[in-house]
Amino acid sequence: MTDFASLRATMVERQLRRRGIADERVLAAMAEVPREDFVSERYRSRAYSDSALPIGEGQTISQPWIVAAICQALELGGGECVLEVGTGSGYSAAVLCRLAAEVVSVERHEPLAAAARQALDSLGVANVEVIVGDGSRGVPERAPFEAIAVHATAPAPPATLLGQLAAAGRLVVPIAADAADLLTVFRHRDGELSSETIGPCRFVPLVGEEGFGPA
Ligand code: SAH
Repeated sequence: MTDFASLRATMVERQLRRRGIADERVLAAMAEVPREDFVSERYRSRAYSDSALPIGEGQTISQPWIVAAICQALELGGGECVLEVGTGSGYSAAVLCRLAAEVVSVERHEPLAAAARQALDSLGVANVEVIVGDGSRGVPERAPFEAIAVHATAPAPPATLLGQLAAAGRLVVPIAADAADLLTVFRHRDGELSSETIGPCRFVPLVGEEGFGPA
């Protein structure tokens, strides 16, 4: 039988800590979440490979390093309400819910949202709400959010999501650029918006009103 626990521990050391993930809370959360439970039987043996994997509907579960990098950039202390756009398999939501008080996660593909809900339920996760819809519009009735994570590439910083950030909030989103997508963190501070590039990355496109056209 595959020893997923030891594969997971190796993943945390080799793929994350050695490649710049230093937030101990993020490393601990990544060491806890069984990524094998968020992929189909066919991909379980590759659950700790250093890559994205297919999850159906033409979508993928993100590479572990990317999930960790996004979580680290959100600078979570534990009390936040987080908006996640692009639930996908539910894996990143399972990591986020260990780092914040509450996670509202939006997925446009209903079958993916249903599978994610089931995987999260099986792990006993109670502080993630999965919503089916266009996450590029955010969730105005639940705003403001101290942190927003977008797991799909936007053509430009989505104004609606920036508008749903709390004072001192952080938005992490891949932005389309010429050579690659650029994972970018936007920070609201004293009424000013600053941005910082984390690094190049590759994501599926954000489909929707403030993404690449209507769903
Ligand atoms: N974080 C996920 C991976 C997500 S892949 C995981 O850990 O498994 C990106 C997801 O964003 C896809 O499932 C895609 O369907 C979804 N997506 C793309 N545009 C969206 C939108 N406007 N609203 C909600 N979900 C969207």
